[in-house]
Amino acid sequence: MLISAKALILGPGELLAPGMVRVLGNRIVQVAEEIPLRLGEERVVLEDAVLSPGLINAHVHLDYTGLRGKLPADSFPAWVKEIIRLKASLSPVELEAALEEGFRLLAGSGTTGVVNMEAYPELLLLADRFPLRCWWFLELLDIRPHVWSPEATCGALRFFDDPHRPLGKLGLAPHAPYTVSPELYRLVRQSAQRFRLPATTHLSESPEEWEMFCQGGGALLDLVRQAGRPRENGRELSPLQWLDRIGGLVPGMLLVHLNYLADADWALLARGEHPVVHCPKSHAFFSYPPFPLERMLSLGIPVCLATDSLASNDSLDLREEIRVARERHPGVPAQRWWEMVTSAPARALGFPGTLGEIRSGAWADLAAFRWVKGSDPWEACIEGREEPLFLMVNGKVLQTEDRRYR
Ligand SMILES: [Zn+2]
Repeated sequence: MLISAKALILGPGELLAPGMVRVLGNRIVQVAEEIPLRLGEERVVLEDAVLSPGLINAHVHLDYTGLRGKLPADSFPAWVKEIIRLKASLSPVELEAALEEGFRLLAGSGTTGVVNMEAYPELLLLADRFPLRCWWFLELLDIRPHVWSPEATCGALRFFDDPHRPLGKLGLAPHAPYTVSPELYRLVRQSAQRFRLPATTHLSESPEEWEMFCQGGGALLDLVRQAGRPRENGRELSPLQWLDRIGGLVPGMLLVHLNYLADADWALLARGEHPVVHCPKSHAFFSYPPFPLERMLSLGIPVCLATDSLASNDSLDLREEIRVARERHPGVPAQRWWEMVTSAPARALGFPGTLGEIRSGAWADLAAFRWVKGSDPWEACIEGREEPLFLMVNGKVLQTEDRRYR
């Protein structure tokens, strides 16, 4: 297939206008200003559009897509209590519908790749049904004794049996330092290294988590004590320092949130080994203090953007995340924002040049947005409210102007 567009965003700050892309199978095989059409080759012409690498959402819980507007924003512990209650009431049918709706919302905003926290491993049995590239991160916690059902075990094991799936990949997500023991974090580190799996964890999200770790008190500590968690380690350490101290930091682990940081955390982050995932609208939902984005970028710390779930957001559209975030960080250029939803998450997941960029040899994951010649293409992508004019994942066309993904 030969796709031509008035402009192509190839990678960070790199534009080709006009340009063409040849896709063969699931890969991009040629990128140039002009490529001659081969006999019998299908051609897609995108008028008034900019073709971009498909967006990658670095942190979402699709299980909670049905919980939009149902949770309180008063405090993080109150939110946690309520989501535990709501989760217990979700039926298998509702969970399946939540996944379907979640993938539909992602595709409708130009997202082709997603890092999904999966609290119900049995849903992995449905993974092949969804046409987006998805990293299914098994959510792990041991705050209470818990045995997986045979369906959950089966769902997870299927991925180990068949690691070469076209779209579904596996990852490990120990939930957070307040729900995961040091032993489980260390087991995750060993397993991630042994099976070469990516890992992620929620870290230093709320003032209550900070209080629990740095001062040994507060409402979150009370909540986890009620759940039976002994609290023997880590007092007077930031959550990040605690995780490092107990040996739970997996090389390359995606650290989600980091809204509260100690001075000592900055030296660790400045090594650039751990991508930080920032969720601007979830951050705003909980009214957290300003996120130190500019400092992270100036130190070369890799930053990705994500939506988190609809339990603390009203949309899974990464363009909205950028629009909200840049009101708070007006000095960050549009190209840099776009990098945080394309090539940065691709690198964080271990696929530089293969994902999140338009290059010969990369997977054909593409999204086209409306653009008027003469205007800034990155601005057009960010400010666009419409569904993508064209969406391709792994070489397969999912959406065009007259055919929507449903
Ligand atoms: Zn989350």
